[in-house]
Amino acid sequence: MQTITRRTTIKAGTGAILAGATAAQQRAQAPTIGIQVGAISFLDEGVEAVLDNVQKLGAVNALFLATFTYGRGIAGRQVSGSPFPDHGKQEEDRDFHGGFYTTPHPGFFRETALKPQRAPEIPGDFDLLEKVLPVAHQRGMKVFCWYEDVFRSDVPGLPQLAEADLYGRTSSRVCYRNPQTRAFWLGQVEDYLRSYPVDGLMFGSERQGPLNNAIGASHGGAGSDPGRVGCFCPFCVAAASKEGISADRARAGHMELEKLINALRKGARLSDGAFVSFWRILVDYPEVLAWERLWTEGLRDTYRAQFRLAHSVQPAAKIGWHIWHNNTFSPFYRAEQDYAELSKTADFFKVVMYNNCAGPRMAGYVKSMSAGIFADLRPEEVLNMNYRFQQFEERPLAEIPTSGLSSDYVARETRRALATTGRNTSVWPGIDIDIPTGRNEKQTSPDDVYQAVTAAFKAGADGIILSRKYSEMKLVNLKAAGRAIRDLGLA
Ligand SMILES: [Zn+2]
Repeated sequence: MQTITRRTTIKAGTGAILAGATAAQQRAQAPTIGIQVGAISFLDEGVEAVLDNVQKLGAVNALFLATFTYGRGIAGRQVSGSPFPDHGKQEEDRDFHGGFYTTPHPGFFRETALKPQRAPEIPGDFDLLEKVLPVAHQRGMKVFCWYEDVFRSDVPGLPQLAEADLYGRTSSRVCYRNPQTRAFWLGQVEDYLRSYPVDGLMFGSERQGPLNNAIGASHGGAGSDPGRVGCFCPFCVAAASKEGISADRARAGHMELEKLINALRKGARLSDGAFVSFWRILVDYPEVLAWERLWTEGLRDTYRAQFRLAHSVQPAAKIGWHIWHNNTFSPFYRAEQDYAELSKTADFFKVVMYNNCAGPRMAGYVKSMSAGIFADLRPEEVLNMNYRFQQFEERPLAEIPTSGLSSDYVARETRRALATTGRNTSVWPGIDIDIPTGRNEKQTSPDDVYQAVTAAFKAGADGIILSRKYSEMKLVNLKAAGRAIRDLGLA
């Protein structure tokens, strides 16, 4: 258990001095007001126009540019089915593909079969960092590369890095323990830091281990297939064997779990109840839990390796992690996001606290869990239990899809992160501006943004990152973030 916290440090005898030093450092350095932006916005609207908007309206002083992803969450225009915001081209992406939005230099990717591929939807001479970085620096804004673990199944070389599920089938997910995957992420770290004068890097992984996936413990978990979880590739099996963990036993336990979850989802009611039946599998096959820990260690090793390389290449650059929104919904995932441990090798955390879309997403989590290991509880009971687990005071299940979660949730999550995050690691909550939800679900209003930003700073945040991407944000909502920052006297 973590006992040394920022709070206890301040309470301790030397606390006054430490707290004073921290406050002085914070005064000397303006809080980070970040925003995530993809390449298409600069192509559609022009570099100067985008920077004008984010600086003047949002009081932004740091850009998190989507340099690599195959996903439309952080790159591309507004996603299909959601209204276009009041800026940018009012048309959908044609042939969105994804890849690198910079010019990857092949020399940094020699150790991996996953060959860096430029995003083909972007003109051949466009390099996001080359175009934006000098202009941003001239305006006194910092620039971070923002890259995430999202792939397509047809990326050349991907099968050689792929996870293997419990039946040995490969997937479009890369295995964190595969040395070629590690080489791909380290190639990016080195390429960005050696090829461009960037201020830092942010890496995001929105994935979890096989146990959490098997029980569907995420906001999109209702559709998860407990037979497709991984990883059981030769690298993972070898790592387990080194620790004396039997892969065969882990597989056998997962097959029992697969049977249980599939039966519960079909409506089976068990004499011992769903939860006891689940827990019995963990008792009979502790290897299932061991395998979950191995998976998480693979990700943590990836964080550690990137942190060490980044600081050896460019000691002044900051490198940190985007912490997935599932941290809000699933106590199982949350247990694995140990800020005290993770902050040993991170300069900052962007902890996702998207309170608007959190409403429908929390409802999605409850739906998934109510069909699985909590099948004997009513969905409302699952939600109330989850509020206690996660220490939230929020609205009933019938309301959250349209109300979202409150700014009090943002304050609680910020305080919780600060309580155990090491003092050298900054906490920058991710703030939701117009993240797409269903047609009849919660939409972002200027007051939502104003309240969330205010709550994060009042709870002690070292900065914020406006998310997910500029191309989906209404300017009136961006302006509300700037107003909150100015009202707090931070800009
Ligand atoms: Zn593996």
